Amino acid sequence: MSSSQNTLAGPSKVLLAAPRGYCAGVDRAVQTVEHALDLYGEPVYVRKEIVHNKHVVQQLEKRGAIFVEEETEVPEGEMVVFSAHGVAPSVHENAERRRLRTIDATCPLVTKVHVEARKFAAEGYTIVLIGHEGHEEVEGTTGEAPERTVLVQTESDVDTLEVDDPDRIAYITQTTLSVDETSSIIAALLKKFPNAVGPKTDDICYATTNRQQSVRALASECELVLVIGSTNSSNSNRLVEVAREHGAQSHLIDNHLQVDEAWLEGVETVGITSGASAPEELVEALVTFFRERGADDVSELRTVNEDVRFMLPGEIRKELAASGA
Ligand code: SF4
Repeated sequence: MSSSQNTLAGPSKVLLAAPRGYCAGVDRAVQTVEHALDLYGEPVYVRKEIVHNKHVVQQLEKRGAIFVEEETEVPEGEMVVFSAHGVAPSVHENAERRRLRTIDATCPLVTKVHVEARKFAAEGYTIVLIGHEGHEEVEGTTGEAPERTVLVQTESDVDTLEVDDPDRIAYITQTTLSVDETSSIIAALLKKFPNAVGPKTDDICYATTNRQQSVRALASECELVLVIGSTNSSNSNRLVEVAREHGAQSHLIDNHLQVDEAWLEGVETVGITSGASAPEELVEALVTFFRERGADDVSELRTVNEDVRFMLPGEIRKELAASGA
């Protein structure tokens, strides 16, 4: 074997998690910006990253989308799309004041959590929001009832939590958390506040749950699990944690260029998955990377079938119908 072939040594087997990658909320949000560009032309402003993936944001920028941090940066009267992670009511108010034309690409499953927050607040509960400080979704949800909401990130936050009325507590969660960790936090909360109430159905969304289930299965079959996703993607980071908890070495990468050769040492089977905001073309490029290093056995490990789809926002549907598209 030549020295160049030695340098390219890699696993012989690639196992792809299924389901992986785009969820219905991300697909809808990305399509919303694409349609907005086609229907209204440039400029289309987007508040925050439409979804937490660098590659997706760069592609949309190339097509003419302008990403801003706050709605206050959008020139008066222009069009702005709100990202999949949701926004606080104050953002809608600012937009109205600036006469912005808005399209809300908030994932319907994030909207569900906002509705719960409003309901619990109206019923006089203290809302315990389980989530990660600084995440856009958490900021948006908190904004529904800022005076009534306390953020809890860990079980020890529950230990130190003090509220005015321990019998009037409602919990809700971010949609992209670790299923196992969140169950433990909820259990600790219910132990401390037995009368705490929660949502009728889980706030952690189907896509997060399914991707964690599939990476768990993957981790038991592979020495190394690579997760394609951006560092600010909550659900992608959770996939790395779950893979590690289940015995595999695991890393989060934006794309195949970030694979460190040292990770591949002694690895026979590499597992690949991708976060809910990572496009499939990045997975394909990573598979090609391993094929070029001699992997000749590429297969999929499916744990569940997904068929969730969300309708595009009403404004886009109306315009599409009017344009005959
Ligand atoms: S990860 Fe879940 S909550 Fe977030 S956009 Fe996708 S489906 Fe919606």
